[in-house]
Amino acid sequence: MRTRAKVVVIGGGVVGVSALYHLAKKGWGDDVVLLEKSELTSGSTWHAAGLLPLFNMSYSVGQVHKYSLNLYKTLEEETGQPVGFAQVGNLRLAMNSDRMDEYYQYAATAKTIGVDVQFVTPGEILKLWPMCNIEGLVGGIYHSDDGYIQPADLTQALATGARARGAKIHRHTRVLNIEQATSGAWLVQTDKGDITCDHVISATGNYARKTGEMIGLDIPVIPVEHQYLVTEPHPQLQQRRGDGLPEMAVLRESDGSWYLREENGGFILGPYEEGAPCCYVDGPDPRAEYELFQEDIDRLAPHIEAAMSRVPAFGEVGIKRIYNGAIAYTPDGNPIIGPAWDVDNFWLNEGHSFGITAAGGAGWQLAEWIVDGEPTIDMLGVEPRRFGDYATKDYLIAKNEETYANVFVIHYPDEERPAGRPLRIAPCYERMKEKGAVFGQRFGWERPNWFATDGMEQVDDWSFRRSKWFEAIRREVANTTENVGLLDMTAFAKCRISGPGAESFLDYMIANRVPQKLGGISLCHALNKNGGVHSEFTIRRDANESFYLVSAGALQRLDHDYLKKHLPGDDSVRFTQLTDAIGVLVLAGPKSRQLLQRVSDTDLSNEAFPWLTAQAIAVGSVPVNAMRVNYVGELGWEIHHAMQHQNEIFDALFEAGEDLGLLPFGIRAMDSMRLEKSYRMVGTELSIEYSAYESAMDRFVKPDKGDFLGRDALMAGKNAGNRHMLVTLVVSDIDDADALGNNALLKDGEIIGRATGGGFGFRVDQSLALGMVQPDLAEPGTELEIEILGKNYPATVVPDSPFDAKNERLRDVNGANG
Ligand SMILES: Cc1cc2nc3c(=O)[nH]c(=O)nc-3n(C[C@H](O)[C@H](O)[C@H](O)COP(=O)(O)OP(=O)(O)OC[C@H]3O[C@@H](n4cnc5c(N)ncnc54)[C@H](O)[C@@H]3O)c2cc1C
Repeated sequence: MRTRAKVVVIGGGVVGVSALYHLAKKGWGDDVVLLEKSELTSGSTWHAAGLLPLFNMSYSVGQVHKYSLNLYKTLEEETGQPVGFAQVGNLRLAMNSDRMDEYYQYAATAKTIGVDVQFVTPGEILKLWPMCNIEGLVGGIYHSDDGYIQPADLTQALATGARARGAKIHRHTRVLNIEQATSGAWLVQTDKGDITCDHVISATGNYARKTGEMIGLDIPVIPVEHQYLVTEPHPQLQQRRGDGLPEMAVLRESDGSWYLREENGGFILGPYEEGAPCCYVDGPDPRAEYELFQEDIDRLAPHIEAAMSRVPAFGEVGIKRIYNGAIAYTPDGNPIIGPAWDVDNFWLNEGHSFGITAAGGAGWQLAEWIVDGEPTIDMLGVEPRRFGDYATKDYLIAKNEETYANVFVIHYPDEERPAGRPLRIAPCYERMKEKGAVFGQRFGWERPNWFATDGMEQVDDWSFRRSKWFEAIRREVANTTENVGLLDMTAFAKCRISGPGAESFLDYMIANRVPQKLGGISLCHALNKNGGVHSEFTIRRDANESFYLVSAGALQRLDHDYLKKHLPGDDSVRFTQLTDAIGVLVLAGPKSRQLLQRVSDTDLSNEAFPWLTAQAIAVGSVPVNAMRVNYVGELGWEIHHAMQHQNEIFDALFEAGEDLGLLPFGIRAMDSMRLEKSYRMVGTELSIEYSAYESAMDRFVKPDKGDFLGRDALMAGKNAGNRHMLVTLVVSDIDDADALGNNALLKDGEIIGRATGGGFGFRVDQSLALGMVQPDLAEPGTELEIEILGKNYPATVVPDSPFDAKNERLRDVNGANG
């Protein structure tokens, strides 16, 4: 066995072998090694049903799946190894209008990434699937490119392709331990000897947590039991074959939570059942291979019945075999593909529940990331660092079982599922609840999404369209605009960067200038090497050598890991985690100064406390850091305080603010207001797929300040000409829905861009969207169209910040308020 390699891949399932194949394809073939403790495919891969569903609501996963299908079509020709790709198509049924809305929203994402999907009527469904009972159907969608593959053959073909490029595969070689030397090199110890390497990829399927334990990583993956059954042949299916008719598409009845396809003249039925338990909670037995569990027919029964009523012929054949195997899961059902946190050059390709479908794309992006230093598509949806320490074993069990049972439920954009909640709560949680808060969860934190007032039921109302909470938000926005509102943003990620090297470190990490004055605040972006936007920080200068950084709560591990991995190795810069120690209450609205002044002795006038500055003040007797910034475009302060004092501040404000009309507002109102200000958000308008200039962040980029991370690529891209440009759009003639993001933007019927986000702006009384378009169509006044839930609406490019473009309210120009 080799003793030295650039990359060691652990795990010979389809996911690990695809990573090896793609590294070899990028030219590293002579230097990459895969270790498999048993035979290739002896984990989950051998018993997978092999379906390749393109359908996925995530922008990242959609692109990963699309790549896979395109690759799989070519593998047989490339390697000479048949992969059994049956491109039979995929038909998804809808039994109600909400399901159709889900399909329309999915189709929008599909269109913008170039996946072909057609809408079909019940009559067309019958033509495609003559054995289907179309009663109760309202329509469906059809992917003609979709189908299924033989997972073991696919893996062997990828292995052949990798070996042909020099890669080595060592079977029957178990990884026992992994260590990183101070030099950064990894030592992978196996039962056949040791290998030193620069990078390790963990692709160990159901063993993910065991592999993580070897280096002290708590990987948020726990598998769930998943079953499918194979029937005896059915004469009608055999007859169809005999008549030379093509195989029918894979059929999915989402509302019955099952899929059905032909298999050797019979059927395969795969359900996603309620009550399927997590398995291998502490990892499988090290010797486990080709392992299946006892089938649970009771769990299958409701789905068998649903399938029998939809396809009566299915009820006419006996069950030949039931497979019950472990399927890896994460709390949101998407895999984790990318760098591990806290360690360098350890890569995760784990948590795949559709691993046959995702393996190709996952290997492709991982190879780009490792060899070239960055992925080429926005991988936020599959980023390993999108979870945090809160994802404990108990949380994973609750969430993964819930996610599995919900694979086929309607994925509403505002869906907030209950399992594993509440988990992380701000001290004011109960107070907010009493005031009517309806909560959502991000990064484990409970955050008020909106407030049920005026006798409304304190229950969320999920929809693709404007729903019950629309009017509640209108009231929250109105009160924040006329009086004063309070928003709990404790979930913000917070940290301190300090030490003699702090300023020069931050100066290199961000494209903007580091705030110079004490108490100065700047909005700053950390770019990646390609000039795309990786992270957004609000940075406040606390002291000469100390900076306080605030970023999106959901991206805490990602943002902080990015900073930590770039710290100089000489102890001149310290990173201090502050998220759990500091709470944040945001006070916003024209009466916010008047209110804050009632509980503080500090002069809060424009002259004494200007916009974009911070000061240490006291609220009552509690010392806080007040920052005159917000994300909603009103006069206001973010009050950053020691977590234990939150309720003192909360009570003091509500006591003093009653006659001023103080009311809480939630995240959804904030989102509506930020759209009116054209404020960008990481993960939608800001992404590694777009340069900081394409996201129109010019005023936060200072190319003349000297070198910074991503500067060269950013400037090269600018000189070559932007490929996209971020615009704000006003959508007309729509009264029951708004853009949700990933909507196609069209000019003369041609797709020329995609909306990144959208919603209703109550202060401007207009439906708004932000989106990326071709630069020549970015001029204000340009008339475009936007597709929203299957219909096209006029969309006009308008100047940024349709509400208060001059920031007069934020700056309180006349000093009129207070
Ligand atoms: C019943 C069922 C049906 C499914 N149907 C589909 C489907 O239709 N479509 C689809 O896309 N997906 C399907 N899946 C999911 C799919 O099987 C998995 O997502 C996929 O196989 C994951 O591949 P992998 O390479 O990540 O894991 P695995 O195939 O489990 O491979 C991991 C490998 O790592 C090895 N390993 C672990 N630890 C070590 C170590 N210490 N040293 C060396 N080697 C190690 C293991 O031996 C194993 O071979 C199904 C799953 C189940 C259970």
